[in-house]
Parts: sequence; structure tokens; C-alpha cells
Amino acid sequence: MKNTASLLDILDSRILIADGAMGTMIQRANPSDRDFGGYPGCNEYLCVTKPDIVANIHSAYLDAGADIIETNTFGATPVVLEEYGLEARSEEINTAAAKIARKCANDFSTGSKPRFVAGSMGPTTKSIFVTASATFDDLAENYLIQSKGLITGGVDFLLLETAHDMLNIKAGLTGINEAFAMLGDETRRSNYDRFGTAGEDFQGFQNGGFEGFGGFEDIFDSFFGGDIFGGRSKRNRRGADLKYEMELDFEEAAFGIKQDIELTRLVDCEDCKGTGADNGKMATCTACNGKGKKKNSIRTPFGIIAQMTTCNSCRGHGNIPEKECRTCSGQGRKKHKRKVTVKIPAGVDNGSTLRVSGEGDAGEAGNGDLYVELFVKPHKVFEREGNHVLLTVPISFSQAALGLEIDIPTLKGDTTLKIPAGTQSHIIFRMRGKGIPDVHTGSVGDQLVKIIVRTPTSLSKKHKEILEELAEKKENMEPEKDFFTKFKEKFV
Ligand SMILES: [Zn+2]
Ligand SMILES: [Zn+2]
Repeated sequence: MKNTASLLDILDSRILIADGAMGTMIQRANPSDRDFGGYPGCNEYLCVTKPDIVANIHSAYLDAGADIIETNTFGATPVVLEEYGLEARSEEINTAAAKIARKCANDFSTGSKPRFVAGSMGPTTKSIFVTASATFDDLAENYLIQSKGLITGGVDFLLLETAHDMLNIKAGLTGINEAFAMLGDETRRSNYDRFGTAGEDFQGFQNGGFEGFGGFEDIFDSFFGGDIFGGRSKRNRRGADLKYEMELDFEEAAFGIKQDIELTRLVDCEDCKGTGADNGKMATCTACNGKGKKKNSIRTPFGIIAQMTTCNSCRGHGNIPEKECRTCSGQGRKKHKRKVTVKIPAGVDNGSTLRVSGEGDAGEAGNGDLYVELFVKPHKVFEREGNHVLLTVPISFSQAALGLEIDIPTLKGDTTLKIPAGTQSHIIFRMRGKGIPDVHTGSVGDQLVKIIVRTPTSLSKKHKEILEELAEKKENMEPEKDFFTKFKEKFV
């Protein structure tokens, strides 16, 4: 991205001030429904309909001395814009917002006080873990669209704010990763145009997009050349997380199961013990003299900036294999098929995700995790309502009138249920403790049996006579008679 290198350099010498609330300032500007372009309340859409309102706010913060301004894109992911029916315009809105902020920052930048643009990402109201209201891929796609828009519009860095849980953050980083991969070539070209230096040396992009996502260190390394948090380097790299989709039967989800799954993952090469060196023999890296870091000079609009970066010959280790290990071609890791036993706890439901710690790819600082996403097949007769199991049982008109005992299937075998005489249709009987255990507390739900009384649609002559005889009997008519009497008393 544009001024990432210069931002990092300045961070070394002083504290930077970011702007304040965007929403409050927009409220104070009091835009009309017309300003909102027919989408009242959609602050992000103002970037398209009323860019000057947004620009004025940025300028006010810059005027007050802010070093960093955030784009007006906090709720500009498709999933949030969907509330307004504007989801298809997410990328456009993000690009427009980034361009407005970019122009304002450039207008206020001086040689001694450059101003920066942070691409504001998130939040999302959806969560993968907590409510399973969105899938991992859905959210990653949302962040991909948003980050593409922001990078295209010219932000200096991205500010990802996702609520709820770690998996949401991973979805965010996956989306950003893809955006970089898609935009990598173009951006490298524009870096070249601007700074007259080849993209490879440009720290914001040294890898031209990430490969997979391997934990935070990786992502931050790729963004910031590995040094933003003081010496964080590729030495600390965890292996990548893996995802596996598993289909379960209704009963397997209800009672839990142990499943063997076969995974192809990266493991340490045994021949070189993960070093990548033949016989484990290492030599000092000549590119950095064993320091693991190199000094780079970058030409920027604000002058030539010297920057310490991770040595890319030895990836920060300070030493390199004397001779590459032949088994793994010097990678230190190789693909390995392996059986992993996953224990599915009782009570999981469709859309749940399980984390199996340490079963992801091997890395220099430990293994990544395995995420198992569960899909539960529907049952032929049972339906699930949380921890309760619902069963619908049709009985005949005469069975309902006379009562009966029937064998009812439950998840734990048949049980006799007594249906009293005079049972009405749609009544629900509760069989306590015959449901599904709660995955967290273990407390077991109930089986709910819903009775549907089938009224006969065709009657034999004999049946008809019996029913007519019943209808003539006084006691059977009493409720009706009672009702009509009351009705007459009121209105006659
Ligand atoms: Zn090896
Ligand atoms: Zn080196």
C-alpha cells in the first residue's frame, strides 16, 4: 500500500494521533434524507452521494492535528449494507471512501508531517462461532470485497475490527489475503511508478500477497515487513490452520461420536528435523552476516528512508542450510497424509465448528489448528428444536376419542405413551429427558410428541350410522347446546 514504509519509520520516532468518531460527526452535520440518496441512516453511502460532508470531517480532524484518518467504511461490508439493499455496491463505496480520505490526507501532508489513511474494516453483526449466523466463507468474502475497495482507493494500511471471536478475525485475514493476491500485481506496478523501486523491495508488499494464512505473525509480517511490534520476525511463525467439513447423522450429533478423518498436512521433514539443511548443517547467511536483518533504503515522496527489514535470504534466521535437504527441497516441511481422530461431543448441531488444537500444518513456532465444520443430516421422523426432539404422531378420530397406548420411537428406543380419551388435535405430550444433551452443560432436553387427529374423509355406511347415533345422544351435544344457549341469551 502507499505509504506503509514511511508510516513504520515514523512510528519508530513518535506517537501518532488518529482521528475521532466519524458517526458522531456525521450526525452533527445533520444530513437530510436527500443527502443520504434515499438511504437515510446509511453513513457509508454518503461517500457516494455527499463526499463533501465526509471530506469536511476528515479535514477537521487533520486540521486539529490528526496524523491518521480512518475511512468512513465501518459498516461498508456487504453483509451490513444488505440492511439497506446496497450490498452490491460495497466495493464501490469502499473505494470512494478511500479516495476521499486519500485526497484529504495528501492535502494536509507536509515533508515533516505526513498524514496517513487507515482503511476501516468491519464490524460485522454476524458471527461464526457464537450464533453460526454466517459461514466462514461468507465472511471472508465480505472482507475480501471491502479490503479490495479500500486498497484500490489508496489507503496506507487496513484497520480490521471484528467482534465476537477469533474465527471472525481469521475470516477477515483470509479475505484480506485474497484481496492482496488479486491486487498484488497491479499494486506492485503502481509502487514502481511512484517510487521508482521494484515492488520486491517495497516492504508493504514484499510477498506480493500471502500464501494461505498462518496465524497473525505471518499476516503482520507481510504487511509491515515483520518489525512493527519490535523485532517480530518470521522466526515465530506458526503453521497454517486447516479446515475440514464433516457430515454427521442426526443421532451422531445428538450423542457424539469419534470419527477418524484423513488429512494431508505439512509436517516437519524427519530427514533434516525441519531445518531444511542436509544433515542439519547450517552456514551463516552472507546477505545479512548472520544478523537476520537488512537495511533497506526506500525513496518516498518525503525523502529517502532507511529501514531495517527481515533478511529475505535467511527469513530472519541468520543462517541458511549449507546444502539443501533433498527430501524436502530445503523447505523443512513436507506433505504428509495422516489419520486424525476427532471426538465430536454430544449435542452439537448443524453449523457448529470444532477446533482441534495443533492438528493444522507444522510451522517453526508450532502447529496451526484444525477447524472441523459440522453438517448434520435431517432425520426421517425426528425434528430438532434446540435440545428438544419433536415427533409428530397422527392418530385416528376414534383413537383420540377413546384413548390408547402407543409405542413411540425415541432416540433411545421405543417407549409407551398413554394418550387419554378425549385428546384434542395438536396437543403436545412432553417426555422428559428423552431429548439431546446440551453441548456445554450436558443437561438433557425432552422429546415433544405432537398429536395430530385425522378426521375421516370417507365413511362406510356403517360408520356413518354409528357417528349419527353418537351425535343424537344428548351428552355428546351438550357443549354445543351450551354454546348456542349463551349466544342467544346475549343477543335476543
Ligand atoms: Zn528435509
Ligand atoms: Zn540473512
